[in-house]
Amino acid sequence: MSALLQVSELSKSFGGVKAVRSVSFEIAKGELLALIGPNGAGKSTCFNMLNGQLRPDAGSVRLEGRNIVGLAPRQVWRLGVGRTFQITATFASMTVRENVQMALLSHHRHLGRLWVRARDQHRDEADRLLDLVGMLAQAERPCSILAYGDLKRLELAIALANQPRLLLMDEPTAGMGPRERVELMGLTAQLVKAQGIAVLFTEHDMDVVFKHADRLMVLDRGQLIAEGAPAQVRANAQVQAIYLGSRSEH
Ligand code: ADP
Ligand code: MG
Repeated sequence: MSALLQVSELSKSFGGVKAVRSVSFEIAKGELLALIGPNGAGKSTCFNMLNGQLRPDAGSVRLEGRNIVGLAPRQVWRLGVGRTFQITATFASMTVRENVQMALLSHHRHLGRLWVRARDQHRDEADRLLDLVGMLAQAERPCSILAYGDLKRLELAIALANQPRLLLMDEPTAGMGPRERVELMGLTAQLVKAQGIAVLFTEHDMDVVFKHADRLMVLDRGQLIAEGAPAQVRANAQVQAIYLGSRSEH
């Protein structure tokens, strides 16, 4: 397996709290890898170290062999590490299409391509992305009036506009109903598989995790305690005790 991302002995403390302790893992191209664990396990801290938002105390993060520790989030984004489902990524007063066009402009600009009028730019490409996520019919609507699930699908289109090689999705389905969750991750799985994009995601809904993840990692108090195929991890007694046993909190 040639790894797209290699994480080695990543650690981060906040004061006396060891949020992430010597975490190592790899993600292959096109793989959907779920990172699960109870609240406070260190999942978001891991994500924040992968995309440059937080600097690790120790360890390395290699993207196709290049250590990206110390790069700013923007630089990591430019190397093809996308992050989805941050509500702030959309502009409420603009239409659905304009939001995707903005993302495309930003992407093409960093590739050094010339552009002229923002409103007309990349319209076809924007519509193709909106069609992929099932949002083309809503292209002219302002984002401010979108239903929550539709906003999430738009955010997926925006993330894809950057042609990421790796997508980081921290609780992408938070706030959604069970059916919407399965649908959104199903759509994500289908799209990223078709394009060979690797995905690292966190998710509390075990139905979604077991249905869509190729592989699972379990984090508990900053440490990886299990890793493997979903069925394998589900059968792990330590995981059942620590995590699956505590699912009532969600
Ligand atoms: P998860 O995403 O798995 O719920 P987090 O990574 O958010 O876990 O948090 C892991 C631990 O680190 C928790 O104990 C949390 O309180 C602590 N923590 C996270 N971010 C900060 C921060 N910026 N400052 C201080 N403590 C933090
Ligand atoms: Mg979190």
